[in-house]
Amino acid sequence: MQILELSALELADEIKKGTIGVTEAAKASLDQIRKEDSKVCAYMTVDEDAVMKRAREVEEGIKSGRYTGPLAGVPIAVKDNICTKGMRTTCSSKILENFVPFYNAEAVDLIEKAGMIMLGKTNMDEFAMGSTTETSAFMATKNPWNTEHVPGGSSGGSCAAVAAGEAFLALGSDTGGSIRQPSSYCGVTGIKPTYGTVSRYGLIAYASSLDQIGPIGKTAADCAALLSVLASYDKKDSTSMKRDDADFMAAFKENPASLRIGIPKEYLSEGLDEDVRKGVEQAAEYLKEQGATVETFDLGFMEYTIPAYYVIASAEASSNLERFDGVKYGYRTAEYDGLHDMYKKSRSEGFGPEVKRRIMLGSFVLSSGYYDAYYLKALKVRAKIKQAFDEAFSRYDVILGPAAPTAAPKLGTSLSDPMKMYLSDIYTVAVNLAGLPGLTVPCTVNEKGLPIGVQLIGDCFAEKKLFLAASGIEKARGAWTLPFTGKETL
Ligand code: GLN
Repeated sequence: MQILELSALELADEIKKGTIGVTEAAKASLDQIRKEDSKVCAYMTVDEDAVMKRAREVEEGIKSGRYTGPLAGVPIAVKDNICTKGMRTTCSSKILENFVPFYNAEAVDLIEKAGMIMLGKTNMDEFAMGSTTETSAFMATKNPWNTEHVPGGSSGGSCAAVAAGEAFLALGSDTGGSIRQPSSYCGVTGIKPTYGTVSRYGLIAYASSLDQIGPIGKTAADCAALLSVLASYDKKDSTSMKRDDADFMAAFKENPASLRIGIPKEYLSEGLDEDVRKGVEQAAEYLKEQGATVETFDLGFMEYTIPAYYVIASAEASSNLERFDGVKYGYRTAEYDGLHDMYKKSRSEGFGPEVKRRIMLGSFVLSSGYYDAYYLKALKVRAKIKQAFDEAFSRYDVILGPAAPTAAPKLGTSLSDPMKMYLSDIYTVAVNLAGLPGLTVPCTVNEKGLPIGVQLIGDCFAEKKLFLAASGIEKARGAWTLPFTGKETL
């Protein structure tokens, strides 16, 4: 049996049956990382000894009945903005290059309680600001489908790790699309849950009212199983929700024929690449084959989503990133003349250009002369966006659309024009502004051999409908092959 080709749930099953050992699975992942990661550059940090030690512990724990959950023994990668006790957590920024947290994020505690094996920390855009993983201060991650292309971002390392067989599952974070867009570029499945579903405790904040941690995996069922582990109330996060509907695996017992699917006309208009449009149309056909009804409708407000998102996200970022001052955390400049000079030099040398751009934009829109004109206006737009979605969800169970306007661009082609890069977030940011769940599922491959995923958006707390729709697409599409297997796709 090819261990790496199994889904996370299949692997956990084999582990339970005793046909595959936990240490064997962990070793297979580490071997793959050793073999592939010099090309892919998905990981920032891997501690092989710690992985094997933990695998032996979990092997014992499964035998003794301590770990009984559906993902016990499964190796998982964690994005490097999620705090891990005793393991450095850099946010792919020079300012946190040597930062070693003394506590775990709640999400990390939860995966450990579920008996999962953390393989290491994955590369990302610096402080999760970017769409290609190229704003990392350390290296650019490559797309495993074609290493001349980006994996997307900001959770590019996590998505590339899964696509390259270097992890069975991964944790990402999504503030404006950072799970869904790289999932589309890398041909994996990823979900941003309803805001408040997964604790943000220990997730290094970018924009607190938008950030959510979520699962990335090979299949919708793998993501549902992991989300069931992650979704739990945490009193350490004041925005954490108590949900009594967090058994997401229940979705797969339902029939997708009951789903009413709406495609916003605005999502198919100018700026959308032909390949991606075909992907969305293909997904619509798949859903129809499964008996679902699919129609197009007017959602409205599209032209306002990018400006509102970049005003709000940058405003929150400028405030959240104040704490990196060279005193409490991370990098401090070598020579300085007094306290203010120390702050100034530490921050100038520690942050990269994209992060500085966001801090300046955020400080500007929050300044007294401009607060009403920009920040307050953006909050009003945010409320309107939520209203438009509420209206849509009175008629549809799930909204179908693209996750990004194109397939993965080539490395080195995006950063020179930040405005263009921001505009490519057009299909994802509204979901965060409205606090909704959004899922990307692989649908097809374009002529260049790059994967194209589609996005499914649901009303608050309607993740199960997203998993159901995704399972319908998976069924009609057939098996999906990741490039590391060396087999033909589709
Ligand atoms: N590309 C978007 C940004 O740079 C989204 C990033 C994210 O979701 N973390 O803000």
